[in-house]
Amino acid sequence: MTSLKQCQLLRDSLAHIGKKIIFQSRVKEEPAYYCNECELEVFNILFVTSENSSRKSYIVHCEDCARQRSPSLPNVVILEQYKMEDLMQVYDHLTLAPQSGSSR
Ligand SMILES: [Zn+2]
Repeated sequence: MTSLKQCQLLRDSLAHIGKKIIFQSRVKEEPAYYCNECELEVFNILFVTSENSSRKSYIVHCEDCARQRSPSLPNVVILEQYKMEDLMQVYDHLTLAPQSGSSR
């Protein structure tokens, strides 16, 4: 299951092997992404490979499948869709009572 802590650990481990994470905000009503191999929903951090750069076909993988292909992820671009602050806010709100006067 997805959790904020998992996202943080994942970011740390990626930073550790020298991978850059590119922030790319989700657009409104952008569909969820699913791993091309195991069909798991990929949340927040996408592992993207381009099979054929001239045709711009991009393939999304989950972490497990991406690492199975190559543990150091040499040809994988990592996209992050939410800012950590946003995620934290979401989680904060989840633990609060629904009617705590949010300013939105
Ligand atoms: Zn997968």
